[in-house]
Amino acid sequence: MKALVLERKGELSLREIDLPLDVGPRDVKIAIHTVGVCGSDVHYYTHGAIGSFVVREPMVLGHEAAGTVTEIGAEVAHLKVGDRVCMEPGVPNMSSRASKLGIYNVDPDVRFWATPPVHGVLMPEVVHPEAFTYKLPDAVSFGEGAMVEPFAVGMQAATRARIVPGDVAVVIGCGPIGIMTALAALAGGCSAVFISDLSAPKLAIAAQYPGVTAVNITEASLQETILAATDGWGADIVFEASGSPRAYQGIFDLMRPGGALVLVGLPVEPVAFDIPASIFKEARIETVFRYANNFDRAVNLIASGKVDLKPLITDTFDFTDSIAAFDRAAKGLPEDVKIQIRMPS
Ligand code: ZN
Repeated sequence: MKALVLERKGELSLREIDLPLDVGPRDVKIAIHTVGVCGSDVHYYTHGAIGSFVVREPMVLGHEAAGTVTEIGAEVAHLKVGDRVCMEPGVPNMSSRASKLGIYNVDPDVRFWATPPVHGVLMPEVVHPEAFTYKLPDAVSFGEGAMVEPFAVGMQAATRARIVPGDVAVVIGCGPIGIMTALAALAGGCSAVFISDLSAPKLAIAAQYPGVTAVNITEASLQETILAATDGWGADIVFEASGSPRAYQGIFDLMRPGGALVLVGLPVEPVAFDIPASIFKEARIETVFRYANNFDRAVNLIASGKVDLKPLITDTFDFTDSIAAFDRAAKGLPEDVKIQIRMPS
């Protein structure tokens, strides 16, 4: 079958690849419909590596996917042929200590699509465990289904924050994950979310959502804005979603005493931050790595209409134009939130 293959850093090809498609007793086979282009896919294309994950052999890209079940294993109980589904791309060892603790996202043995050496899903068909495949209600489109994966990161951030109804939150960084985090925080009970960035087009997209206030830090001080909005008290929760070392300067000045800092953005290098400032506020610091136990909740929120991700799908390319889709994503245009690729049906 034809797949989008990252041959090596900087070189993509649409070509035939032979991959096993054996359906085990608890697996389903899925005809892929839509795949989102993720920052990580683009980073492997442009840099050939993320941290210690290095592309050493040709690898199929893509991990944000939705499609239709075409075959089921003998022991599959909850899915049937014809079901529209989205897939959780990381499959852990279910017997591992991490999985038994419910933190399967940090299982050292997790196999995650399009993370070397594991192939992704920019190809017509894939086989996946039923346990990590989620049925999409009729109200959820394939495009939205392929948005569940990045939204699950925002869901994980909101979950780790332990939001209390009425909390005020700040999200630093208005990329796709920052916006998804803001939407998950609102769905989780925040009364207001302030989102900051340097890019006016990005902020304009986030500001479409009721409850989200955009703060352009080239025009206004984020700290002054937050303190003015909270009578000098500070935000209950600060989500760092930019990955920028500069975001850590004065980050605890945004937070109320006893607030939470949730680290979502992944800096390229280690970052220094002000430990005394965090101690004086007895800040609770949480980290987010992918997600666990959030896909079903994410699908439910989208189906309920409480979270509308459709405005974030800013362009869709045909599979035959996948390389152009990646070259476009690599430009990092501020008005592009999520680019998706649609398989030929
Ligand atoms: Zn992703």
